[in-house]
This record gives sequence, structure tokens and C-alpha cells, in this order.
Amino acid sequence: MKIIRTKEGMREWSRSCRAQGKTIGFVPTMGYLHQGHLSLVEEAARAADEVVISIYVNPTQFAPGEDLEVYPRSEEEDLRKAQEKGATVGFCPSSLYSEGYQTNVIVEELIKPLCGVSRPTHFIGVATVVTKLFNIVRPDTAIFGKKDYQQLAIIKRVVEDLDQGVTIVGMPIVREADGLAMSSRNAYLTEAERAQAVALSQVLDLVRRATKNGERASHVLRDMALTHFKKFPLLQPEYVEIRDRETFELVTEVHDRCFIALAAKLGTTRLIDNSELD
Ligand code: AMP
Repeated sequence: MKIIRTKEGMREWSRSCRAQGKTIGFVPTMGYLHQGHLSLVEEAARAADEVVISIYVNPTQFAPGEDLEVYPRSEEEDLRKAQEKGATVGFCPSSLYSEGYQTNVIVEELIKPLCGVSRPTHFIGVATVVTKLFNIVRPDTAIFGKKDYQQLAIIKRVVEDLDQGVTIVGMPIVREADGLAMSSRNAYLTEAERAQAVALSQVLDLVRRATKNGERASHVLRDMALTHFKKFPLLQPEYVEIRDRETFELVTEVHDRCFIALAAKLGTTRLIDNSELD
């Protein structure tokens, strides 16, 4: 596996790769890899000749007071795991922003609801860094997890709106045995918080089951979710919303192109989860 630490080195590798007629699959991450990230690497290896994984904790997607400084890191281990799953290049830049940087990618509407309410600048940082990474790596295909459902929709919008010419693939959420969606941030949870974190996936199961049994009213499903959360005293729900998958508009009656999205805090750790509703 080749390790590249500069933008220039990455550009050069990409240029020569394309000159040889090879396709490039790309998995952007912030590291501390788990099976969710690795499922994206496996998909990239199926989709392209070469697989680049980037490991970069992007400062512009953290607001002051968030967990940038303490975000968990394990680069050596990450690169070993990624290589095992088929990554051929690890792109680990120390910084991506030049002095005087002042250009951002702003997706006007999709950044506002859900996580955008408590993290109003987060998706500007995400859309900007992914655009920068696409410009450097020049992938044919990039793989993202549906764990970050709003992020995936925003990236698809950016690619379409700015004609970036990258095929975006969304992969299913990988979960722990008890249903908790894998996340690098799960490492922050105390034992007691970890035990209660199962509430998020339980709520998704509950709502999916209720819709299968014919319940269509969003407010009923939402109340059901909030009532379940009350059984978990360490958990503070931030939002429970059912929206249209394409437009992200709130729906009052569930139809077959909706999703439910949740965010909750356990102590200082903020967790998100979601499920498409069919
Ligand atoms: P992160 O390192 O948190 O920025 O995540 C990098 C990529 O991994 C993003 O596309 C995430 O959506 C994806 N990802 C994170 N957790 C999971 C998971 N549990 N299942 C599938 N994909 C995930």
C-alpha cells in the first residue's frame, strides 16, 4: 500500500493512474476505522481498479467547543485494516487548507434541517473538504455511508450542481450486535451510556414495525419514538424527524420514499442514526 502525505504527491499519483487507463475508487474518512468504514473500502475495491482511502480529521467541519482536539486517531492500524480490505493508497495529509483560505461550498437548503440546526457550519465544512478531496484525488467513484444520510444527500447535490463528474455510491449502515450504528464517536461512551445507546436503533425498529403494520401519521410515529426514549434517563433526544428522501421536506403521512432520522446526546457524546421507511 502506498502512503501519500501531500496534495502534490496525491495529484501526481492520480494523474499517472489515469494515464494508465485505471479507474479510481475513493473513500474519504476521518480515521479510527471500524467495520462501517471498511465496508466502503470493500465496495470501492469492487467498483474500481485502485482504491484511495483518505484519513483526515477536517477542522472546518467542527465548531468551536466540539471534539476536534480529542477526536480518536489510530492511523497505523487504520492503514493496515484498509489495505486488508483492498485499499491501494492511503492519503493522509497533515493539512488541506492553504494560508488565506476563504472559499467554501454552501448547499443552500439541504444543510439547514436535522443536524444543520445544532451544527449550522458543519455541512459547509463537509461539502468544502469533499470538493477539495475530489479535486486532488480525481476519483471516478466515491463511496459514502448512509449512516450520515444528510451528508450523503448533500454530497450528491454538490456533485450534480458543480458538475464534479464523480459517481457517488451510498452503502448500508453497519451495526454492532445490539443494533448500535458503528461510529468512531462510540469510543467516547461510558459503560452506562453505551448500554443506553441501543435506544436509537430500538426506536428505528419500533417505527419501522409500526409503519409496516399500517401506521402512517408522522406525529404518532414521532410520539412513539419519544416515549421510548423516555425509558433511557441518560439519553437526551435532539431530533426525531420523518422526511422525504429526495427533497428532505417534512412529511405528515409516511409514504414509500421517506426516512426517519434521529440525533441524541448521551452525556457529552452526540449520536445520530436513521432508517429508510418503505
Ligand atoms: P467518518 O470517518 O465518520 O467521517 O466517516 C467516513 C465514512 O464512513 C462516511 O461516508 C460515513 O458515512 C461512513 N460510515 C461511518 N459509520 C458507518 C457505519 N456504521 N456504516 C456505514 N458507513 C459508515
